[in-house]
Amino acid sequence: MSKLYVVGTPIGNLEDFSPRAVRILSECDFIAAEDTRVTLKLLNHFGIKKPMVSYFEHNIRESGEKVIAEILSGKSCALVTDAGMPAISDPGEDLVRQCHEKGIAVESVPGPCAFATALALSGIPSGRFTFEGFLSVNKPGRAQHLDSLRNEARTMIFYEAPHKLAATLKDMNKVFGNREIAIVRELTKIHEQVIKTTLDEAVRLYGDGGLKGEMVLILKGKEESLAEEELTLEDAIELAKKSIESGMSTSEAAKNAAKLTGFKKGDIYKSLL
Ligand code: SAM
Repeated sequence: MSKLYVVGTPIGNLEDFSPRAVRILSECDFIAAEDTRVTLKLLNHFGIKKPMVSYFEHNIRESGEKVIAEILSGKSCALVTDAGMPAISDPGEDLVRQCHEKGIAVESVPGPCAFATALALSGIPSGRFTFEGFLSVNKPGRAQHLDSLRNEARTMIFYEAPHKLAATLKDMNKVFGNREIAIVRELTKIHEQVIKTTLDEAVRLYGDGGLKGEMVLILKGKEESLAEEELTLEDAIELAKKSIESGMSTSEAAKNAAKLTGFKKGDIYKSLL
């Protein structure tokens, strides 16, 4: 039936490919693959023979149009990438959006996804998190990205390439200071490893490179600020009084306490007088 299947593929261990994924790849009319050579290995392993078209970052428009035309002519297509879920730091988002716009059915065939697996293994709070994908290679873009996360309280998840890890850890250390981080490597492979450490220690250990393999970085969010705790105006005044005792002017102390607690500077100042 005319449809797009979004199929997750293993991120290292071929045993993670589900029986349903094998069936869908065997039954669909054709496969749109990020790299047809990589997908051919997967197909050979599971004894699947299927026509493939390449659908990757640099031919998204032309190839996407052809894939859509084929589906509209009545064919079913399975979209795969080299590893993991399509559309997650991988091609797919555009094709899925176009299918929705054209009324083409899109069906999920979920498989492994590196960021969700790494988060689950990290032991870092997973209740609320933000997925940041890859940092830009361009220095200003990268600095801006990290800076925008300076006050992020949720756990942050980054994809990273091994040759850029050292620079990334140093940049993160500058922006976030010393925080808990998990470097989750080689998921589902022989050398799978969760390195639980801090940014200071990570820079000391890996700031000159040396760590290899595929990896996900799970960075703990900023500790709750004073402003986010249940504070009263009296707490704010107490805070300001302590600052005055340590030499701050009344006005400065009120301003500082206001910044930290969220109460109005004027209210704190009046109470101090
Ligand atoms: N679409 C994929 C997914 O669902 O996770 C992600 C593709 S992205 C181009 C590749 C990045 O995912 C790698 O640079 C690495 O950060 C992460 N990754 C993929 N496989 C991994 C593995 N086995 N262990 C750790 N990280 C992995």
